[in-house]
Amino acid sequence: ADDGHVPAIVVGSGYGAAVSALRLGEAGVRTLVLEMGQAWTTPGPDGRVHCDMLNPDRRSMWFKDRTEAPVNGVLFLDLANRPIPRYAGVLDRVNFPDMGVYVGRGVGGGSLVNGGMAVVPDRAYFEQVLPNVDAAEMYERYFPLAQRMLRVNSIPAPYFEGSDYYQYARLSRTLAGRAGYGTRFLPNVYSFDYMAREERGEVPKSALGTEVLYGNNHGKFSLDKGYLAQAVATGNVTIAPLHRVTRVQATASGYALTVRQITAEGAPVAEKHLTCDHLFLGAGSLGSTELLLRARETGDLPDLSDEVGEGWGPNGNVMAARNNHLLEPTGFKQSAIPVLAIEDPARDVIAEIAPVPAGIETYVSLYLAITKNPNRGRFTYDAATDRAVLHWTAAQAEPAVAAARGLFDDINDANNTTYRYDVFANRQPFAADFCYHPLGGAVLGRATDDHGRVRGYRRLYVTDGALVPGSLGVNPFVTITALAERNIARVLAEDLA
Ligand code: FAD
Repeated sequence: ADDGHVPAIVVGSGYGAAVSALRLGEAGVRTLVLEMGQAWTTPGPDGRVHCDMLNPDRRSMWFKDRTEAPVNGVLFLDLANRPIPRYAGVLDRVNFPDMGVYVGRGVGGGSLVNGGMAVVPDRAYFEQVLPNVDAAEMYERYFPLAQRMLRVNSIPAPYFEGSDYYQYARLSRTLAGRAGYGTRFLPNVYSFDYMAREERGEVPKSALGTEVLYGNNHGKFSLDKGYLAQAVATGNVTIAPLHRVTRVQATASGYALTVRQITAEGAPVAEKHLTCDHLFLGAGSLGSTELLLRARETGDLPDLSDEVGEGWGPNGNVMAARNNHLLEPTGFKQSAIPVLAIEDPARDVIAEIAPVPAGIETYVSLYLAITKNPNRGRFTYDAATDRAVLHWTAAQAEPAVAAARGLFDDINDANNTTYRYDVFANRQPFAADFCYHPLGGAVLGRATDDHGRVRGYRRLYVTDGALVPGSLGVNPFVTITALAERNIARVLAEDLA
C-alpha cells in the first residue's frame, strides 16, 4: 500500500530536524515531519501540559513502568522515582549495558526536556572536533543565527545575586573560589524576564516551580514555539506526531519509509508507507544512527559506509554530588534552570551547578561536569531485537570521572566537605553511567560528506547530533542548530535548486 508521496520528509523534530523543516518550508518545498512522540499542546486533567519533577505522572516518561530520574533521592529515600502507567511521556531513558541515554520524545525533541543551557563551544576545540567545517563561517554567521533563532538570553547579574532561588549556585561559587576556581555564567533559552516575574508572583511558576526534565509549562522557548511553529506557518510543513519511522528503503528516485502510528497509550493505529525525493534524518544521535545501521545491515541501504555507527560519545558527561556544612545551606527554593559553571581549565572540565529542587534543605550540591574524555563507543545492529546496541563500557568513562574527581577533591579539601553517596542509583558520588548529551554515530565528514549528505546515497541527509563526533566540551544544542543551519543552506542551494 502507498499512503502518499511528499517532496521532502524530515524524521524527528529536535534541533537538526526543526532547522531543516523551517528552511525547506521557506524554500517552498512541501515537507512532512514524522515525530514518534506527542505534540505537547493539550493540558491534562490538572490543567497543565507537563508534570513537574516532584510529582511525576504518566506524562513524565516514554513507556516506562517507573520513572527513571537521574537523581534517585536523598538520604537513601527513593524520593524522586515512582510507578507510572505506560504512556507516550516526554522523557525517555534508553538503557544500554553501561550507559543510559536521556532523550526527549515529542514535537520539539530534546528542547522539551532540556535545561535550556545555550553554550557556544570554545573555538579552538570546535576546530579540533570538526576540522573540515569552516570555523570562521560558523562563529561569524551560524552560531549568531542559532542564538537569535533560539532566543538565547543571559541572567541579569543583579537578579542572580539577589534571588533566593540561586543561593545554591552562589554557594557553589563561594566553595569553588576557596579552592581557587572561577566560574562563568551560562546563557539560556529560558526567559529570565519571565523568571523574574515568577519570583514576583505575577505569573505561574515554571523554572521556580520545579519544572524541567519532564517539560516546562512556561518560560522556555522550546522548538515547538520557535523553529517548528515558524515552519508550519510557511504553509509547506506538516508535522505528524506519534509517527515512528521503522524502515528506510531506496526507490528509483528517492526513499520509501515504513511508519508506525500509535495512540498516546501505545495502541497501534496504522502502518503507513510513504515516499519522498529528499530524506532528512533528524532523529538524534541514537535515532538517526539506528535507522541507518538497520538499513545497512538488513540490506535496505547496503552501500552505506562502515562509518555508520562509529564515533559515539556522551560529551564526557559526569554528574557529581557533594555534601555541605549545616551553616552553609543550599536553600530549599531552587530554580530548575542552571546558570553558572565552575571552570577547571587545567583538567578541561566545566562543572555546571545543577539544582536539587526537592522543596526541602538537602545540603546537597549537584553538578553536571562536561569533560573532554577522548574515548568513543560504537553501535552495532542486533537482528534479534531489531535495535541498535551501544558498545560503551564503564572503563571508557574513567577519564571523565578522574577529571571531575580532581576538581571536586580540591573543592572538598578547601572547604573540609565530603561527597554524597545517596544521590545516584549507583550509590557513588559520581555517575557516568548515564548522559544527557549523546553525540555521534553518523559523523560529519566520515559517514556523511562535509555537509551531512550520507555517503553511498543521493538525497539522503543527517541533520542532528549524530554528526558530532562524541564531544564538544559544552552543552550541544546550539552547535547542533548552527551546524544544521549551515548544512541545509548548502543543500538547498546545490541539491534542491
Ligand atoms: P533530539 O533533540 O534528540 O530530537 C530527536 C527527535 O527524533 C526526538 O523528538 C525523537 O522522539 C525523534 N525520533 C527518534 N527516532 C525516531 C524515529 N525512528 N521516528 C520518528 N521520530 C524519531 N543540551 C544543551 O545544549 N543544553 C542543555 O541545557 C541540555 N540539557 C539537557 C537535559 C536533558 C534532560 C536532556 C535529555 C538533554 C539535554 N541537552 C542539553 C541535550 C540536547 O537536548 C540534545 O543535544 C539535543 O536535543 C539533540 O538534538 P538532535 O537534533 O540531535 O535530536
